[in-house]
Amino acid sequence: PMASSCISSEAQEELSRHPCYSEEAHRFFARMHLPVAPACNIQCHYCNRKFDCVNESRPGVVSEVLTPEQAEHKVKGVAAQLMQLSVVGIAGPGDPLANAEKTFDTFRRVKQQVPDVALCLSTNGLTLYRHVEQIVALGIRHVTITINAIDPEVGRDIYPWIYDEGVRYEGKAAAELLICRQLQGLELLAQRGILVKVNSILIPGINDHHLPAVSERIKKLGAVLHNVTPLIIAPGSQYEQNGRKAPRPKELYQLQEVLGRDGMKVMRHCRQCRADAIGLLGQDRNQDFTLDKLE
Ligand code: SF4
Ligand code: SF4
Repeated sequence: PMASSCISSEAQEELSRHPCYSEEAHRFFARMHLPVAPACNIQCHYCNRKFDCVNESRPGVVSEVLTPEQAEHKVKGVAAQLMQLSVVGIAGPGDPLANAEKTFDTFRRVKQQVPDVALCLSTNGLTLYRHVEQIVALGIRHVTITINAIDPEVGRDIYPWIYDEGVRYEGKAAAELLICRQLQGLELLAQRGILVKVNSILIPGINDHHLPAVSERIKKLGAVLHNVTPLIIAPGSQYEQNGRKAPRPKELYQLQEVLGRDGMKVMRHCRQCRADAIGLLGQDRNQDFTLDKLE
C-alpha cells in the first residue's frame, strides 16, 4: 500500500503486532488498557466526565481508576494468563497526558514487569510536545492523537474550552491552540519514528466535510493510520442537549472510502473499546481479570 512504502521493515513488523494498527493482527493479538488517568485538560462537546474519554473509547460506563501500583499488579496477572497479550495501552478514562506522572510511572512499571509487550498511548495532544523525550526514552512506539479538526472555525464547535499551564482558553482561541499543539505533537513524534495513529470522530453537521482535509494534513505530517469513528453522544453532554445525531453507518463507510482513495491508510475495524478493555478487539475480558481475581 502507498502510505506504508516509506516505513522501515522494523516499523512494519511493529505495526503487524498491534491489533489496532493491523487488521490481520486483531484476530491474534490482544491488547490491554490500564485506566490510570482520570483528569482531563480540555472539554469536548460530546463528552460527559462520568464516562470514559471518547478519544479511544466509548461512553457507557466509567472504568474504575487504578493506581500505578494496582495497574502493575494487574498487568503481571494478565500477562501470565493471556498469552496473546502484545500491547498495553493507557487511554483514559481522561487524558493520559493530563495525568503525566501516573501515566509514565505506570508505563515504567509495565516495562519492568513485561518487557516484551508494546506500549501504546492515546491523547488529545494538548501537552504532547512537552512529553516527546519521555515517550521516546520509555520506548513507547505507538501513540494515538484524536484530531477532529484542523480549522479553528470547525474546532470551536467541538471544544468549548481548554486549560493549559494555569490558563483557560475559550472559543476560537481554545481551538486554535489545541489544533496547533496536536499537529506539532504529531510532527515531532513522526520525526522520531513513533508510529502515530490519528483518531477523528465523525460529527455530522460539524466536521463531516472537513475530515478529508484533516486526513491530507496528517498524512503530510507523518501519521501512519487514520481511524475515523462515529460520534457516540454521551448522555448529559452538550451535543445531547443540542439534539445532535450520530452518523449513519453509510456516512462513515463512504467517508472511509474517500479517505482511503487519497492514499491514507484507514482503520476500519475499531471497536471503540473502553479505557479498561482487555483481550482481543471486540472481546472484552476485563471482568475475568478484576484485581480480586488476580490475588
Ligand atoms: Fe472527555 Fe476525552 Fe474530550 Fe477530555 S479529551 S473532554 S475526557 S472526550
Ligand atoms: Fe483499538 Fe479502536 Fe479499541 Fe482503540 S478503541 S484499542 S483503536 S479498537
